[in-house]
Amino acid sequence: MANKTLGLEPNLYQYLLSVSLREPEILTQLRQETAQHPMAIMQIAPEQGQFMALLVQLMGAKKTLEVGVFTGYSTLAVALALPGDGKVIACDISEEYTSIALPYWREAGVADKIDLRIAPALETLDKLIAEETEGFDFAFIDADKSNYDGYYERALKLVRPGGLIAIDNVLWSGKVADTQVQDNRTEKIRALNQKLHQDERIYLSLVPIADGLTLALKRP
Ligand code: CA
Repeated sequence: MANKTLGLEPNLYQYLLSVSLREPEILTQLRQETAQHPMAIMQIAPEQGQFMALLVQLMGAKKTLEVGVFTGYSTLAVALALPGDGKVIACDISEEYTSIALPYWREAGVADKIDLRIAPALETLDKLIAEETEGFDFAFIDADKSNYDGYYERALKLVRPGGLIAIDNVLWSGKVADTQVQDNRTEKIRALNQKLHQDERIYLSLVPIADGLTLALKRP
C-alpha cells in the first residue's frame, strides 16, 4: 500500500493509459504529426491533455487563457472541452509552430473558439490587463521558463477569484530536485515552485502528472 505518489514504471504507465486515455482521433493525429517535429519534446502528454479537459469541464469554464501553444495540442484538448460559446486566448511567438495546429483546430470544429495571438506573451497579457479583459476561468502556462514568474503574476490578475492556473513542467524531468543542476531555466522553475508554496493568494496542489503540473486556484 503506497501512501506516497508512485513512480510510474513503463508497464504501469502503459496500464494507466490503457484504462484511462480517451483521446479523440483528431488529437491523436495532431500528436502523431507533432511527434515528427524536432521540438516534439515540447508537446504535453495525452493523459495531461485529458486531465486539463476534465478540469475545464469540472469548472464549467468558458473563458480560458493559454501561454505557449506550440503545435496546439493543449489548446485543442481544452477547446474541445469548452461549451460552444467558450473561448481560448492562445499566446505564442511562433507562427511556424502554431501553423501546424490550424488545420487540426479547423477540422475539429473549434477554430472559432480559439483566438491565437502571435506576440511575446508578456505583451499580450499586459494588453489584456490594460483592456480589463479579466475573469478568465482557467489559464495554462507552458512557455519559456525564464518568464514563468511573469506569466504567473499576470495570469493571477487575469483569472477570476476561484479561477485556476495550471503551470507545466514544474518537476522539470527531476532536475528541480538535483542540486547539481543550476542552469537558468531550472533555477527559474525552482524559484517559482518555492514562491507558490508560500503564496497566500492561492490554494495549491502540485500534481505529478507528466512533467509535473501545478494547480493554483485563486482565492475568492
Ligand atoms: Ca510543457
